[in-house]
Amino acid sequence: MDNINEGRKHVFSFEVFPPKQSTSFEKIKEVTDSLIELEPDFISVTYGAGGSIKDNRTVEVCKLIANSGKSKPVAHLTCIGSKKEEIDEILYSLNKIGVKDILALRGDKNPNVTQKGDFEHASDLIYYIKSKMGDKFNVLAACYPAGHNESVSQKQDIINLKKKVDAGVSGLITQMFFDNEEFYRFRDLVEVSGIEVPIEAGIMPITNTRQIEKVISLSGASMPARLTRLIAKYGRNDDAMFDAGTSFATSQIVELLSSDINGIHLYTMNNPAVAKRIHSVVKGLLKF
Ligand code: FAD
Repeated sequence: MDNINEGRKHVFSFEVFPPKQSTSFEKIKEVTDSLIELEPDFISVTYGAGGSIKDNRTVEVCKLIANSGKSKPVAHLTCIGSKKEEIDEILYSLNKIGVKDILALRGDKNPNVTQKGDFEHASDLIYYIKSKMGDKFNVLAACYPAGHNESVSQKQDIINLKKKVDAGVSGLITQMFFDNEEFYRFRDLVEVSGIEVPIEAGIMPITNTRQIEKVISLSGASMPARLTRLIAKYGRNDDAMFDAGTSFATSQIVELLSSDINGIHLYTMNNPAVAKRIHSVVKGLLKF
């Protein structure tokens, strides 16, 4: 089965989120068209955990990307609160439109999701996809350089990560982080644990101050002083923050690429201008 890192020195990929049902589909098409021009190895499409299948437009956005013929979609799929039949429905839809790669996730616990699902952890979903669909899907999973926020320790989190990988994962994508040293420490621990699949580093360019609180609470990542200084100085001016945030992310990526990273996954927040700026600097480095 495909390995995300096969045949290339560094994978370069993007994440987008689908529009709400009430929003027009035109805008996301513009976003994916612009991102596809940058020739990413894949574009991953998020999935709203616990939402009903018909409200989730992940499959539709994956279809847009697949139909372009120029990049491939990776469909996120969460299992919290889902029954096997609901997961089956999505798997069949994805298979029908030619999607071959799934990022299998549990999803965040949410008090609004009351249905008791058939899956407890992402590892259960991964095992289910692999046993039900065989090699029809290449399965990726998430990992957390700062440790997952529900985990008692990073050691325990990595033991749990190994369960996911052993269930049939061929690659990992990290939660966003802003301090490369945090990532290197994590990578060393993962290596010692016997996990051998490639890890893509998830990078989130901070280009406006509205993102910050959400980003910190979601990721648990530490903010280096270098970044907090940038935000304090430029945060009140959108243009300046765009320049400062994309520069910070670019320098983070350049340093990671020089440290033999498997790949970079850019959290684009559906903003192709951010991806374009960063890509223009790092594209020449991806083959080294
Ligand atoms: P799990 O792997 O199940 O881990 C959750 C917790 O359970 C961890 O503390 C882990 O240590 C523990 N654990 C795992 N397996 C076991 C086991 N077998 N036994 C005991 N304990 C175990 N959320 C969305 O809603 N939609 C998205 O599209 C989405 N995309 C994401 C993409 C990436 C790259 C990342 C990093 C996260 C994404 N998330 C998304 C967020 C994710 O759903 C949450 O972080 C969620 O809380 C955990 O998901 P998981 O798949 O890592 O869960």
